[in-house]
Amino acid sequence: MSRKGGRWFVSFLVDDHAAPPGQHAMPGTAVGIDRGVKNAVVTSDGDFHGRPFITAGERVRYRRLQQRLARSKRGSANRHKTITAMGRIMSRVSDRRGDFCAQIAARIVARNAMVVLEDLRIKNMSAGASGTVAEPGHNVRQKAGLNRAILDKGWHRLELAFTNAARYTGTRVVKVNPAYTSQRCSACGFVTEGNRESQAVFRCKAAGCGHRDHADVNAAKNIKAAGHAVSACGDLGTSRSVKQEPVSRATGRTPS
Ligand SMILES: [Zn+2]
Repeated sequence: MSRKGGRWFVSFLVDDHAAPPGQHAMPGTAVGIDRGVKNAVVTSDGDFHGRPFITAGERVRYRRLQQRLARSKRGSANRHKTITAMGRIMSRVSDRRGDFCAQIAARIVARNAMVVLEDLRIKNMSAGASGTVAEPGHNVRQKAGLNRAILDKGWHRLELAFTNAARYTGTRVVKVNPAYTSQRCSACGFVTEGNRESQAVFRCKAAGCGHRDHADVNAAKNIKAAGHAVSACGDLGTSRSVKQEPVSRATGRTPS
């Protein structure tokens, strides 16, 4: 039994005797998944999946509660009430995210023998790489922070959902180093920061290429290619990529 966001949960562990199929129903199929900014999930097939996890009203309320929390006295009854109210909003957000992740993961593993994800423990979370869209107003940073927190948590849930769903289809889930995936041209391999013209637009600057794509789809294609490279090393490569220690924060940056 557990308690979360003011609600009680009872969990049962059930052995469904399901064994992962030895081979996926569609062998040789693969997809790369990019974590989008506007859409939670963008695939190398060019599919965009997303839904708002927090409503506009909840966002406003949450921000007000954050301010109230900052003003409240440590250990006071008011502070406790504020924290409980914040937890209630976040548990609703969490439920929506859970539904979304389970549905998307089930749909994608059914069609793919290999799913390639970014290993975000080694992602450099610089402002430039994340492509935050600036808006006027003094709450921009706070709002961006909340969005980021929601997207980041969502990514971990999605990874778990893929791992769970993959057991039923025999899909292999591979994690790869995300460095340069947003700056590399998926057509010719040329890497430069300027390739990503905006949050949405990718256009290759290499002479004679000029490949154009949605920036997140281009990144997902690079992720898929990186997954093929890892899987060519066999299971050793996969387990190493999963257990790899985080490398220095500088790794994901563009060389100047
Ligand atoms: Zn190119």
